[in-house]
Amino acid sequence: FENLSSVHGREFENMHKLEEKISDLEMTLSKGSQEVEEFRTDIEAKYKMMFKIVADRLAHLEKLRDIFNKKLDDRKKNIKKLDSVYDKMTVLVPKMSQLEKIRGQVIGFSARLPFNMILKTHGSVLRHFKEMISNCGDHFNSETGEFTAPLDGLYATSLCVNFVVKQCLHLIIVKAPCALCKNVSYCKQCIVGDIMSKENAENGSVFVVVNLTSGDKLYTLYSSVNQMMHERSILFTCFRIG
Ligand SMILES: [Zn+2]
Repeated sequence: FENLSSVHGREFENMHKLEEKISDLEMTLSKGSQEVEEFRTDIEAKYKMMFKIVADRLAHLEKLRDIFNKKLDDRKKNIKKLDSVYDKMTVLVPKMSQLEKIRGQVIGFSARLPFNMILKTHGSVLRHFKEMISNCGDHFNSETGEFTAPLDGLYATSLCVNFVVKQCLHLIIVKAPCALCKNVSYCKQCIVGDIMSKENAENGSVFVVVNLTSGDKLYTLYSSVNQMMHERSILFTCFRIG
């Protein structure tokens, strides 16, 4: 029994030592896993911080890229604007030099319709002025009967008629273009002056001073209902005062 009990005692002691070792091991393990957890948390925090730094840098870079793109767009727009300015200038410069040339020039004309011409249609423009008395600056087109103002300014215009056949007739000096009118014969904007003759009249005339803008046209209209054969003179005149 003595032997058996001493064996038991040793076994018990061994068991106890083993339990202590297991307990030590468990403690070491728990400590190790705690360290691992701390290490993981630390790594995670560092990763988050790095991520935030990278994200911040990226946002900053994106902002810079947007600014750069905007500047590039502005530059392109400016170049486009410059191009259009250049295009306008290439059109304007010759016009300006032409205006410089015209500015000092005398502008004016007088022209007469041929005798024995039949004016037929109501509202027809007087054309084909065969006799050019003067045409300074060449701004009156004798074929179309139109004077085109080359410069803004004050102009004097007149229409003189001598009749042989005594009859009622209506002649108008017209200024065009007009955005409002449907019929220039009745448009206050278009009519610069007119001659309304009675049957017993032998001549008639109108003299008007009118403001014209560059490009405005002056021409004369026959506005009577009956056809007329004029055997004397229809004289159309315009000149720039200043
Ligand atoms: Zn009109």
